[in-house]
Amino acid sequence: MRRAVVLLVCGKAEVVHGDPTGMVVHSATSSLEVPSVIRLATYVRVPYRGRVPLTRAGLMLRDRYRCAYCGGRAETIDHVVPRSRGGQHTWQNCVACCAKCNHRKADKLLSELGWRLRVVPSAPRGPHWRLLAGVVDADPLWLPYLGEPAA
Ligand SMILES: [Zn+2]
Repeated sequence: MRRAVVLLVCGKAEVVHGDPTGMVVHSATSSLEVPSVIRLATYVRVPYRGRVPLTRAGLMLRDRYRCAYCGGRAETIDHVVPRSRGGQHTWQNCVACCAKCNHRKADKLLSELGWRLRVVPSAPRGPHWRLLAGVVDADPLWLPYLGEPAA
């Protein structure tokens, strides 16, 4: 946020969406509404490489906060193959899941329940995912800018 405000003040970026929480930062002489989405005036190549770390926030964004099984609002993370049955903590084995499905699924395999995944989970690609991995509370306003979920 601090960096975004500095970019705005220096004229290197413009606001696309304000922050719905309406936060305002003040300096000695002026005040500025905190942005949620900004557009840089010039293209900046982000030199990140390698795999995107798996985080709760990143996973929720990849799955658009939708339960992988019923499509409802997801609040939890489910290991498709349960950890107790050798499932890995990876992008390919983790999905967003609603509390109800997570409770019903417990430590069972999909084949035992007759359930299917709505989308086959995979690691997201692209530099913005690396940035998002460190974000605890992602703004839903960002979703349209994240591209299609990896198939
Ligand atoms: Zn569900």
